[in-house]
Amino acid sequence: MTETAVRTVLVLIENADAALRSPALEALTLARTLGMPVALTLAEPSTPALDQLADAGVDRVLFADLGEAPREIPAVAAVAVAAAAAHTGAGLVLLTSSFVNKEIAAHTAWRTGAGLLIDVTSLADAGGRLVGGKRVFAGTWDTECAVTTQAAVATLRPNALTAQAAASRGAAAVEGLPVAASSPAGLELLDRVVHEVSADASGVVRPALAEAAVVVAGGRGTAGDFGPVEDLADALGAAIGSTRDAVDEGWIGHDAQVGQTGVTIAPRVYIGAGISGAPHHHGGMQAARTIIAVNTDSEAPLVELSDFAVIGDLHEILPAAAAAIRSRRAAQS
Ligand SMILES: Cc1cc2nc3c(=O)[nH]c(=O)nc-3n(C[C@H](O)[C@H](O)[C@H](O)COP(=O)(O)OP(=O)(O)OC[C@H]3O[C@@H](n4cnc5c(N)ncnc54)[C@H](O)[C@@H]3O)c2cc1C
Repeated sequence: MTETAVRTVLVLIENADAALRSPALEALTLARTLGMPVALTLAEPSTPALDQLADAGVDRVLFADLGEAPREIPAVAAVAVAAAAAHTGAGLVLLTSSFVNKEIAAHTAWRTGAGLLIDVTSLADAGGRLVGGKRVFAGTWDTECAVTTQAAVATLRPNALTAQAAASRGAAAVEGLPVAASSPAGLELLDRVVHEVSADASGVVRPALAEAAVVVAGGRGTAGDFGPVEDLADALGAAIGSTRDAVDEGWIGHDAQVGQTGVTIAPRVYIGAGISGAPHHHGGMQAARTIIAVNTDSEAPLVELSDFAVIGDLHEILPAAAAAIRSRRAAQS
């Protein structure tokens, strides 16, 4: 990869065969502040996706065609990302911070010799060097890391910034980029299961936990009744989270577990109901911008950590909050 006068920022767009999700639009918003965004897709982009890419000011959309090679394997996807980076002379490759993308980012950095920044919440140009901000050690330290190589690969945490449309629309013209790749020796893709939504027994579609802007989480204080948590989550259009204790009790699936051995989240708003805030849990949500605790114990660690706390029984507070939100919405519409 070489640096050009105006830095090309290659943004890997996931699920381009459907409408784009917020994290991709956030990455494009950041890319515009650092250079000229070029979108890269590993699937043929849909018409709604191209429309959104045009709104995001993207002129070039590279569709890397991997043929029969399984693009679900990160090492295979990284061959395409590295090829596209070389093809465009990108100074920065930007991905959203999903588990899979972090692995693709690592393979891409290794292939291209670029510096690697994982889970940044900010990225700025400091005299030609890219400097990424990230929160580490379970949210207790804010750090800044400068990339010392010419090119960089970075993954951006969902909700780190607000997605915005570009001042002027781009052409979003699609270019094919044939890429020859195959599964690494000894690895074969047998099955593929897509988990698009938070754990949920009722079949209601909710945003994916790892990228939701609002998360309502329930813990042992629910005593196994997640009804009030679901009610408030649906009033807010939020994802549902939980603690490991609630998962171990069999009250909710492991997909919903937030924390050290679950999902790490950084939503704009996190509401923790009946959750004590043990270090194993708060390490996974402490990066939330606003933390709200609902707890009967005013001295629970999560209450002390929170921006706002409501002291009382979640079985009364959550339904009351959901009803108030719904009646406010109805009055406004
Ligand atoms: C190796 C290891 C890894 C772990 N990884 C994780 C992880 O990834 N994620 C995770 O969450 N945990 C994890 N844990 C477990 C963690 O240490 C805590 O045990 C767990 O987070 C506590 O869950 P909780 O807050 O639901 O329960 P509790 O700690 O029992 O807290 C329940 C809270 O609910 C409140 N409450 C009770 N009734 C009500 C009510 N009616 N209304 C409102 N509030 C009420 C109580 O005051 C209390 O604060 C891990 C543990 C280990 C050992």
